[in-house]
Amino acid sequence: MIDKGRFFVPGPTEVRPEVLDALRRPMIFHRHKEMEELMRRVTARLGAVFGTRRPVHVLTGSGTSAMELAIRNGTKRRVLAVIHGDFGERFARMAEACGREVVRLTAEPGGVVPLEQVRQALVRGGFDAVTATHSETATGVLGDIKVIGEMVRELGGDDVLLLVDAVSAAGATPIDADAWELDAVVSASQKALALPPGLAFAAVSERFVARARTLRDRGVYLDVLRYEEFAGKFQSPTTPAVSLLFALDKQLADIEQETLAARFARHLAMTAVCTAFVSRAEAAGLGVSLLAGPGRYSPSVTCIRSDRSGEILKGMREQGYELGGGQPPLAKTTFRIGHMGDHTVTGVEAMLGVLDRVLRNL
Ligand SMILES: *Cc1c(COP(=O)(O)O)cnc(C)c1O
Repeated sequence: MIDKGRFFVPGPTEVRPEVLDALRRPMIFHRHKEMEELMRRVTARLGAVFGTRRPVHVLTGSGTSAMELAIRNGTKRRVLAVIHGDFGERFARMAEACGREVVRLTAEPGGVVPLEQVRQALVRGGFDAVTATHSETATGVLGDIKVIGEMVRELGGDDVLLLVDAVSAAGATPIDADAWELDAVVSASQKALALPPGLAFAAVSERFVARARTLRDRGVYLDVLRYEEFAGKFQSPTTPAVSLLFALDKQLADIEQETLAARFARHLAMTAVCTAFVSRAEAAGLGVSLLAGPGRYSPSVTCIRSDRSGEILKGMREQGYELGGGQPPLAKTTFRIGHMGDHTVTGVEAMLGVLDRVLRNL
């Protein structure tokens, strides 16, 4: 077991004991008033996190389930996939698995797809949806979702929907689904919201719901129209993960107390501390460097290039710290620090002190 304050995997992230305690509450019946009241509170607070006045649907499933909801209900035939790493690629493969044709725009590792390329693709047209990743957890890169949103609306009107994977972004960085006119913003409980895994979230636009009504293969479990129907009465179509909802209720109240602005600032500060450390370590000849280019750093994960990633992870584990490995195709050449959720600058600094020793003793 890893001690508190030492678990820096980019999801699941560490969960505070107070939040874990909420999981121990006795069950309530999900069709009773008590659950309705809980869901009223949760819906309002999730709305603030996602920047929407519409309901945010809560699914029992991992983030992938909400991504699939976005694809199945929001795409018709041909999808433009903006890919900044492994998670963006997964979104594209998922669309293909659901029978859609996919055109990929793939960035160099650590880079972003130039916005001009996105624009040109949209001008050529023929797409009914665009997929993009807000914080690409595989590479530690933050995409420019707001600008992509503006382009999609300018060039695609109401016929092209923008589907955003915000799994490691929601709760770490501003998302304004309504103002940016995003059609689906999906996330999960175990990243920057610092809850146990098991819940997924989907904020969808009216445009998205209208599109869903025209599609016949929505299935059952991920049919957004059923979620829409039940959201009206603050319920879910099927039995929800009651215990996780208790934890969500507690955590969202605490996030409101901290304020989202302070939470975002704390995430930026943790990123700043990590990126500054890696730059110093690189200058000191310790054989590490940042994967993401300057100005593109994710607020929740820092991805570090090193040929000795495996040894570094092992060295940190021996010191009682768990960091994250790299993701394909960077599995052997990078490792990642997940600094999201309820982690603190002080905690990150303590971890970096240990990482410094490990690097020097390689
Ligand atoms: C973690 C993550 C996912 C996958 O989420 P699961 O909960 O494992 O299904 C998808 N996209 C991004 C950006 C992620 O960070």
